[in-house]
Amino acid sequence: MNILVINAGSSSLKYQFFRMPSEAPLCTGIIEKIGAKNAFIKHKTLNGGIEKVLESEEHIADHAVGLNKVLRLLSDPADGLIQNTDEIAAVGHRVVHGGDYFSKATRITADIKEKIRELSDLAPLHNPVSLECIEVAEATFPKAVQVAVFDTAFHQTIPEVAYRYAIPEKLYEKDKMRVYGFHGTSHGHVTQKAMQWLGRQDARIISIHLGNGCSITAVDSGRSVDTSMGFGPLSGLIMGTRSGDIDPSVLLHLMDNGTYTPDEISDILNKQSGLRGFTGSNDMRDVRRMQQEGSRPASLILDMYAYRIKKYIGAYAAVLNGLDAIVFTAGVGENDVAIREAVCTGMDYLNIHLDKEKNSIRAGNIREISRVGDGVKILVVPTNEELEIAQQTLELL
Ligand code: ADP
Repeated sequence: MNILVINAGSSSLKYQFFRMPSEAPLCTGIIEKIGAKNAFIKHKTLNGGIEKVLESEEHIADHAVGLNKVLRLLSDPADGLIQNTDEIAAVGHRVVHGGDYFSKATRITADIKEKIRELSDLAPLHNPVSLECIEVAEATFPKAVQVAVFDTAFHQTIPEVAYRYAIPEKLYEKDKMRVYGFHGTSHGHVTQKAMQWLGRQDARIISIHLGNGCSITAVDSGRSVDTSMGFGPLSGLIMGTRSGDIDPSVLLHLMDNGTYTPDEISDILNKQSGLRGFTGSNDMRDVRRMQQEGSRPASLILDMYAYRIKKYIGAYAAVLNGLDAIVFTAGVGENDVAIREAVCTGMDYLNIHLDKEKNSIRAGNIREISRVGDGVKILVVPTNEELEIAQQTLELL
């Protein structure tokens, strides 16, 4: 059974081709800078154990042109994986915002598309692009089942006491201002893997997703009960380019003074803050190098980055009334040894004890890095949002 997974960003398109139930994709690819003069295309196939990488630059006007390009590559007579479009049984789409309407993966119909369109108000940069890709995929693969997997769905189990903001009711009732949370597909995936590893379905887990965007989620028996991103992806942890938690008075003051327009403030908080705000780079590897070369701003932002995570671990241990495991995942969480050490140091009160030697071993699989004993298990679990989307798509078939 062939499943194509599509993850559309505002100017990018990532895709993976799975022959389920095998978990390894036979093809992965990305098109970046869609709409610009020269889009960059990287298409990697693994056919009969032989890896082939194709890279090119060409004008890709929009996501429709991009998806047609993907189709041509997938059905290439020499290196392709399919001969015609009917061989794709289903297409799984990552959709950023499912509002409070979608709590699980959903087969796409005309009504569902209408609902995703309505929710574009909440995610104006993302949902319209997902819709465009869904419509192109429907036209391109007319026999395939189309499935939407929402970033917000996993967090629909968060109780009202945690998802409401203490602002006038009408802003909730009418304007839908509440915590939605994001990275749900990743948090769901890694906590499932962690529960299998622990051999317990009732575990209390804190899942820490540290990529370019960062968020932390409290998970009780597989259900999200609180998360650090909220109405949008700005709150919570310090990220590559986003500030994370900040007193809203700062923004009001900047606007009151007339120094900055709302658009400029949005740009500052979303694109110029976090690691980048202190060092000029949002890439953890650069920041780490700067720190090693003695940069004070790099050193400070890294301390702040770890400190913020620790604060949330404390908060979520209280929310969960105890803790069985913490999970590090995504680019930074899986690879940056020093962040994991900084987060787990001085956490004896919570029975969190890192084994430094285990922590320093680099591997691509799930692993435990806590000291032997009855303390909280510290796990590194590689995330795989595309595989999770493929699996949820398969379940719906
Ligand atoms: P996203 O999917 O949100 O774009 P990723 O999960 O790919 O993000 O993570 C990107 C982050 O991971 C970047 O900050 C990058 O520097 C960091 N990263 C990737 N590899 C390493 C590594 N070996 N050591 C430290 N950080 C890394």
